[in-house]
Amino acid sequence: MLAEPPTQPEPSIAMRLESFQTRDWAEENSRLAHADPREILCWANETFGRKLTMATAFGPEGCVLLHMIAEINPKLRVFNLDTGYQFAETLAVRDRVRERYGIDVELVQPDTTVAEYEADHPIPLYVTNPDRCCHDRKIVPLRRAVLGYDAWISSIRGDQTADRARTPVVGWDAKFSLVKVNPLLNWTRREVWAFIHAHDVPYNPMFDQGYSSVGCFPCTRPTAEGESERSGRWAGKAKTECGLHSLDSSQL
Ligand code: SF4
Repeated sequence: MLAEPPTQPEPSIAMRLESFQTRDWAEENSRLAHADPREILCWANETFGRKLTMATAFGPEGCVLLHMIAEINPKLRVFNLDTGYQFAETLAVRDRVRERYGIDVELVQPDTTVAEYEADHPIPLYVTNPDRCCHDRKIVPLRRAVLGYDAWISSIRGDQTADRARTPVVGWDAKFSLVKVNPLLNWTRREVWAFIHAHDVPYNPMFDQGYSSVGCFPCTRPTAEGESERSGRWAGKAKTECGLHSLDSSQL
């Protein structure tokens, strides 16, 4: 009997990641810069396969991507950073996504419950030190959630903040040590909502109640006509990002 030909050994995770880290993504970026988000998602799905994951906070952009992912690869692992401070309306979107698309979004939680966390910090850290709170309840769990993956999908748009505007469609994410893919980077808010209404995509009803961006309930308020989209997040503070998508490593 002929022996099976030797198979190529699988490169280690570290070697694979190093090749992604040192790779020049310029060619992919110029090809995908104005591509339809579905094309970007298909490319990511084919390139990274089961080593691709996605984070969602169930914002309108995330819901659009979930609709597209349901058509491309409904088995993709999707997770939500469940800080313990999310609105009930946000978590209800998870149920509607499961019913509509069969996608079971995994909840990734911090090491401590809110009760344990607040027992250690009688004045909650979201008041005294929100950067620390986001670090403990979002950044650390995200780091854990992407371990073993090569790439993650985010639903940021470039016109949301200055940092997001400088982000490429695909590139090495040094903060979390994997490739980051941003399929909706070039979409506007208007395009997102047009897609939601055209395809009857489930979304958080708070967006019909004066909220233009929804995060944790202690750090989110509705916005008034003329205010910027993210002005209801950490209102009254200099903070504009939780640190997941900022380019400023001081928030880590
Ligand atoms: S958004 Fe507010 S409550 Fe949520 S993790 Fe950050 S500081 Fe804490």
